[in-house]
Amino acid sequence: MQSPMPLVVILATGGTIAGTAAASTDTTGYRAGALGADALIAAVPALADHLLESESVAAIDSKDMDAATWQRLAARVAHHVARPEVAGVVITHGTDTLEETAYFLQRVLAPAKPVVLTAAMRPASALSPDGPANLLDAVTVAECAEARGVSVVFAGAAWAALGLRKVHTLQTSAFAGSDCGPIARLEGGTLRRFRAWPGGEALGLARIAAPAQSWPQVEIVLNHAGADGRLVDAAVASGVAGLVVAGTGHGSTSARLDAALERARAASVRVTRASRCAFGPVLARDARDGEAAGELSAVQARVELQLQLLGTR
Ligand code: ASP
Repeated sequence: MQSPMPLVVILATGGTIAGTAAASTDTTGYRAGALGADALIAAVPALADHLLESESVAAIDSKDMDAATWQRLAARVAHHVARPEVAGVVITHGTDTLEETAYFLQRVLAPAKPVVLTAAMRPASALSPDGPANLLDAVTVAECAEARGVSVVFAGAAWAALGLRKVHTLQTSAFAGSDCGPIARLEGGTLRRFRAWPGGEALGLARIAAPAQSWPQVEIVLNHAGADGRLVDAAVASGVAGLVVAGTGHGSTSARLDAALERARAASVRVTRASRCAFGPVLARDARDGEAAGELSAVQARVELQLQLLGTR
């Protein structure tokens, strides 16, 4: 007997992949999130014989991604992953905060089925959009029986969220992993896998159940020449619960920024040290240094700290 066709649910959230511009030559002046999931699917003839369902969760430029949208998205992903007939879920998203959403979903859900985020650098109306091929590749991963966890499929590769960074403002190869390569490459519809799919324990939806507007505020500050820590003091005065410092090199901070961070800790603000470098981990040194981001980018470390703070309430 033939095994049934795997069912994939496509959740649309917006982004350039669903963007349209007035001219096909315009790849920067477009409106993100203008098209629904059905239009994205219709643009890929090869998807015609796949078993797909689609649903719109949001229609935003991912620069505007927020906690309330994450709550909604996580709930819809959890709902579909729990359906026995669903093989996997694809999420279409903007590239700008893709690495944050991917990390958030992996930490909250750690799904036993594939949940695949994909995106595009060129709008759907471009002369040669990159979205259709990315969507087809994402569906391929979502249909794959051995795949699991949250991954990002982009420009012919599947990446784990941990350590993933958007590294280019315009090129269609916009993502790279920190010190690790992709989980797999997609070549002509075939998966060539190099490393394990993401696993680990889920924090669970209960962790993020508090109203989004009440989530602990976590901000990011940067070390740079002349950094004097005044933004840290201002953040503490405004009531932040946590700070991520994107330090220089291996997470270092100027003497004055360091002193401000010490004042923040004394005021019970949690501080995580990350780096403003594109790649490489920030390792824990000693207790006085506070928590270290490890492989996480500063923006992912912000998500992690917010999830930890949610767990301490
Ligand atoms: N600003 C867009 C977004 O993140 C960029 C993109 O999708 O490439 O929604």
